[in-house]
Amino acid sequence: MQEAIQPKYYQAKVVCNCGNEFVTGSTKKEIHVEICSKCHPFYTGQQKSTSARGRIERFNRKYGLNK
Ligand SMILES: [Zn+2]
Repeated sequence: MQEAIQPKYYQAKVVCNCGNEFVTGSTKKEIHVEICSKCHPFYTGQQKSTSARGRIERFNRKYGLNK
């Protein structure tokens, strides 16, 4: 147990390269990303790519967006 080290949980502002901003829970105050649900091909449907889907799933896990 590391009782002295408890990361504070912020309402992090996530800023995407496309200009979209949204808020999520994170141990960081601010996060910059290259893709988001607004501009990623997996969500926009402009491109069907299994590799892209794996990337967004990894992204969601990293930032705790799988809810
Ligand atoms: Zn974006």
